[in-house]
Amino acid sequence: NEGPVKSWHKSVCRYCGTGCGVMLGMDENKKLARVRGDEEAHNKGVICIKGSLLAELMEKKDHRLKQPMIRKNGKLEPASWDEAMTLVADKFKTSIKDHGPNSVAYYGSGQLFIEESYTANKLFKGGIGTNNVDGNPRLCMASAAVGYTQVFGKDEPAGCFDDIDHADTFFIIGSNTYECHPPIWERIMRRKDSGKDVKIIVVDPRRTKTADHADFYLPVVPGTDLLLLNAMLHVIVKEGWQSEEYVQQHINFKKGSDTVSFEEFKTFLEDYSPEKVEEELGVSAPQIREVAYYFAKAKSSMSLWTMGLNQRVQGVFLNNTMNSLHLVTGQINKKGATPLSMTGQCNACGGVRDTGSLSHILPHGRLIKKPEHRAEMEKLWGVPAGRIQPKPGYNALSLFQAMNDEKVKAVLVMCTNPAQSMPNIDHYKPGMEKTFMVVADAFDSETIKYADVVLPAALYIEKEGVYGQTERRYQLIEKLVEPYAESRSDLDILVDFAERIGYGDFISSKTSAEVWEEYRHLSSHSKYNFEGITRDRLKEERGLQWPCPDEKHPGTARRYIPGDPFVPQGKEVFFYGHKDGKANVFLRPYIRGNEQVNDEFPIYLTTGRVISQWHTGSMTTTVKELNTQSGPGRFKLHPQDASHYNVKTGDTIRVTSSRGTMTGKLEISELETPGVVFAAFYDKSFIINQVVSDDHDPYSKQPDYKVTRVKIEKV
Ligand code: SF4
Repeated sequence: NEGPVKSWHKSVCRYCGTGCGVMLGMDENKKLARVRGDEEAHNKGVICIKGSLLAELMEKKDHRLKQPMIRKNGKLEPASWDEAMTLVADKFKTSIKDHGPNSVAYYGSGQLFIEESYTANKLFKGGIGTNNVDGNPRLCMASAAVGYTQVFGKDEPAGCFDDIDHADTFFIIGSNTYECHPPIWERIMRRKDSGKDVKIIVVDPRRTKTADHADFYLPVVPGTDLLLLNAMLHVIVKEGWQSEEYVQQHINFKKGSDTVSFEEFKTFLEDYSPEKVEEELGVSAPQIREVAYYFAKAKSSMSLWTMGLNQRVQGVFLNNTMNSLHLVTGQINKKGATPLSMTGQCNACGGVRDTGSLSHILPHGRLIKKPEHRAEMEKLWGVPAGRIQPKPGYNALSLFQAMNDEKVKAVLVMCTNPAQSMPNIDHYKPGMEKTFMVVADAFDSETIKYADVVLPAALYIEKEGVYGQTERRYQLIEKLVEPYAESRSDLDILVDFAERIGYGDFISSKTSAEVWEEYRHLSSHSKYNFEGITRDRLKEERGLQWPCPDEKHPGTARRYIPGDPFVPQGKEVFFYGHKDGKANVFLRPYIRGNEQVNDEFPIYLTTGRVISQWHTGSMTTTVKELNTQSGPGRFKLHPQDASHYNVKTGDTIRVTSSRGTMTGKLEISELETPGVVFAAFYDKSFIINQVVSDDHDPYSKQPDYKVTRVKIEKV
């Protein structure tokens, strides 16, 4: 029954990195009336509860920002667009004039369109001349990006979701796929039910719903899973389960920047025998041997991970070593065998990683630190040599610290909510108070409380642009409704801002379609080449995966093997990110983190998402059905710990770390793990990031949201 639907339109869900294709049914009043999964898209018609309620989200007008606002005498007052943008431009220009370009910054989002992030990045790095461009993807996938780049010489995964239909062993680590990427989980279950001998291994300190369906569930002690990965490698090389051919032809073993022998790699692994690590890891030696066997000996092994590996003080080492397991066993470059880091946000891959919108990178895999990469981009953007600064700008943590220290005077925040999502948030709030903060968003949020200027932004199908999801697939969202009230697209805001601060000619592409043309042509100068992904093709096709160098090219599902346009003829495997075509396997030692439990803080806090809420909840908490499903934010504890602390469901507890304290309701659940208290971060009346540590990976600068030692008290 199509009910009131007058026309159906191909689109994409605006939430997570699965990037589900959806069909949007518009009624006779041009209102979004119905949503269903797109059977022709890669998600094969499956969507989750959040995607299915997109129409309800579009109707939550009461929670939307309606018109620009300027803070006067401590209070946000309505203003015209001209008043607001004049003030923004004046403050930025004055700051740049008086304190230099590094006194201003942009803090963006993996939820903006590619065209929007690209324009912001170009304006700040190539125009204003500051690398202070960062955003919330620093908090979610920086470790995966650095991990891939170190191993393959290029960011972004080699494989794709189609590999799920060919894998025999799934190694799921640090991902609650059941709740956070439901269509992916359903596809894994379909493979499991296909009659083949399929094994699912789940590694997670929490016994999630994903873990509940595993053939092998390994409840590792929080913060220790690099011990597991190295121990699996130890077993594999001891048993001779490595692929000799692959090791000899396609791998360089690396200790730092030095190339070492396979024998030295084996010697490094001596410290990681299952018997040596089992006590600290919390998983028995026989279990380690068993999962090493199923990983190495399967016809095709696929690993999937998200924040459990990325948001860690050893996030890059974990990502390196996850890739190493595939390389050493040859479980890569064939259907069903691939490492695949899944993205949290809808457009963190396409919008931020690919456009180079972080403080240390430039478009299409280029690095700020490389003079030849800076020179290339300066030429392509037509700016004077030396315009792009040679040092990375502030990353998320150092940016908010620089705001605390009054080094950054003005910041433009778009489509994100750092006052709820940053770890150790109370530490960074003074900086938000002191800095001239411009916030563009569609919904009210915690961050608006600190804004000096608020700009109402268009939401989802109120504007047009391209999203790039986990598997390098670009998909178009077309505009179907007019922006609510006075809101404008983030691209319109950026173009207006650029003109008012004197970069109107430099930001010459003013519409989404024009920016896409500029951007896709730019890609042809790189190994990301997607010149063939035209706007017209995006309108017709269910997304295209890059590389895709010309308009006849079908896109590339699997990189580094024949079919990838950059693999030389005659080569079966070629990792073209490195000159010799080989991938790096690093010797990565496990280092005990600072947040190990002790007498003062005897239990671990770990945080994550739930199926029906999206990140800080500024959108999804407006939808009644989603709130009913999730309930309010709360702590979760295993019955064994509940008995130790003499608490029960419904009690109020206080959870304290060395960073901060939070008081909230408690739920006791058999699904939790002894020794770990869990909290999700969607509820603005329950901001768990007040307690979460801001320790971070030294290479990716990504904070560790997964391991904070705390104490619990009954209130
Ligand atoms: Fe798909 Fe993610 Fe949207 Fe759910 S939230 S429908 S899994 S893209």
